Amino acid sequence: MNKKIYILLVAIITIVFVVILLAPRENKKQGENEKVKIVTSFYPIYVMTQNITDGAQGIELTNLTQNNVGCLHNYTLLTSDMKKVEKADIFIENGLGLENFMEKIIGTYPNLKIIDSSKNITNKIEDDDEGTNPHIWTSIENYIIQIDTITNFLNEYNPENANIYQENCNKYKEKLNELKLKYDQELNDLKGKKVVCLDEALTYLIKEIGMECIQITTNHEESTLSADTIKNVINEIKNQNIKAIIVGEEAIDNAKTLESETDAKIYKLDSCMSENNYISSMQNNLKVLKQILENS
Ligand SMILES: [Zn+2]
Repeated sequence: MNKKIYILLVAIITIVFVVILLAPRENKKQGENEKVKIVTSFYPIYVMTQNITDGAQGIELTNLTQNNVGCLHNYTLLTSDMKKVEKADIFIENGLGLENFMEKIIGTYPNLKIIDSSKNITNKIEDDDEGTNPHIWTSIENYIIQIDTITNFLNEYNPENANIYQENCNKYKEKLNELKLKYDQELNDLKGKKVVCLDEALTYLIKEIGMECIQITTNHEESTLSADTIKNVINEIKNQNIKAIIVGEEAIDNAKTLESETDAKIYKLDSCMSENNYISSMQNNLKVLKQILENS
């Protein structure tokens, strides 16, 4: 090759490289104001997203509702809640109708990207009167599906952090799979056992273990059961020789009546909506569930 042409070629290639290196990045070079702003609807979804985004740069994660708000059943949005969504890029919801205020949010902020964490859930529990039970996260398997759904979306939306998101997701899933294995091994003998459950958020957990659940709808034990319902449940407990009444964290007066009139005992499980981390809540639940096994 002619030496001059060779030098010219090297010069051109060098210039092209320098230009590419110095060119302004079009992809979000994230300054303080260009952070990816993520808002989650309530505590369980916040915890999932916090675990996935841990250590990622240029993101801002906010929970829409107060961490101690419990379930979003009947929740009314506050003006301060709406303010949090105002500048958000992404809103992550549980889905299945749990967030009854979604219409308002979508109507007010039509450009907001919505992630429905329930999108890939297939084993939904349907109730003739109540419709689809939205409290899917108390099943560890569902929880993992929700994490995957959120991670996949974030990977695509914010590829700069995709490696971190995926690595966090994998690590978290490893722990969750370990926990699920413990449940399978240690609670195998609970399969087929009948229980009465007074908190609809715990139904997915009970079904995942393989127990048969007689679900009494109480709106997380906030509504009092009628005398007729109590009588029917007492009969059912006696006739079917049921030994366990499962409750959540709220008032348990109805459960006490059932316990005093039958041989069944009350067991309190955590529906993972309070400020504990999911894994420790589910580890405690495992201990309580083992007591059912020991007492039966
Ligand atoms: Zn609820």
